[in-house]
Amino acid sequence: MGRSSKDKRDIYYRLAKEEGWRARSAYKLLQINEEFDIFKGVTKAVDLCAAPGSWSQVLSRKLRGEGKSTSDVKIVAVDLQAMAPLPGVTQLQGDITKESTAREIVGHFDGEQADLVVCDGAPDVTGLHDIDEYIQAQLLLAALNITTHILKPGGTFVAKIFRGKDVTLLYSQLKIFFPNVTVAKPKSSRNSSIESFVVCQNYAPPKGYIPNMSNPLLDHSYDANFNNLEGPNRVIVPFLACGDLSAYDSDKTYPLQLEAGEGYTSLPPTQAPINPPYQTASALKKKDMLAKEIDQVTQGDVTMETEET
Ligand code: SAM
Repeated sequence: MGRSSKDKRDIYYRLAKEEGWRARSAYKLLQINEEFDIFKGVTKAVDLCAAPGSWSQVLSRKLRGEGKSTSDVKIVAVDLQAMAPLPGVTQLQGDITKESTAREIVGHFDGEQADLVVCDGAPDVTGLHDIDEYIQAQLLLAALNITTHILKPGGTFVAKIFRGKDVTLLYSQLKIFFPNVTVAKPKSSRNSSIESFVVCQNYAPPKGYIPNMSNPLLDHSYDANFNNLEGPNRVIVPFLACGDLSAYDSDKTYPLQLEAGEGYTSLPPTQAPINPPYQTASALKKKDMLAKEIDQVTQGDVTMETEET
């Protein structure tokens, strides 16, 4: 699609260029702010997954806006990709799921805390929804993990979230740290997209929670630590891949192991399912009766009703 046809089709794309934003995403953060007033009193902020930088531009303009003292403003922006400089924004290039990046971000705060952490992280979408949602959830949890190190009590965390089928697990993990979690869908976010934004307010980690640099989802050495975690520190549900490297990969096809001249005989199931739910559909399919109008179909000694699907 050419630039001019995108201009005609997408008002936010056009406006972003007219108003000097690096990406149309700027409007998402601005519209979230219209509803939640997230920049009120904020001088220190972190922008995770920031490139090309329109959210950092919004932060820079809002935190360093007219008449404000800029001396105590701190904005740290991080992305895998390099980003052109922005006034008052410290940039780091790195992967937010890596402990080294998390440490670098925390290092930039010199023991101080942030008032606001935002994360617009999105993977390169594969089109395989389960994988896209899983990777996006990992970015969100990596962002949450970094947030637990630098956000001040009472602070705000805003992050992109894909509202897939397992999203409630993410909501419950966020609720452990924030009493107020709202899902926001700015007008500038297309309805056809599963993205939304969680606005998590009033950061209040559970009493006794000690932030842990190991990312429970991605750090392979986490297993050992995990077993030592107790009480409120054992709050993020870890994902562990089980089985050693010599185990069969369930997504791979392996050749049959046959002797020369030996044919293959398929074995019956050890225990056939009893009355499985697909039995009716299989019987109808055999008689080419699936997707037919409501009708009485007699199959052997079973009488079934079929419906147009
Ligand atoms: N908020 C940005 C803006 O307004 O310009 C747009 C962010 S873009 C939708 C998503 C970004 O997430 C990409 O720049 C991508 O490089 C970044 N990203 C994806 N995975 C990442 C990771 N593991 N660590 C850091 N950045 C990541």
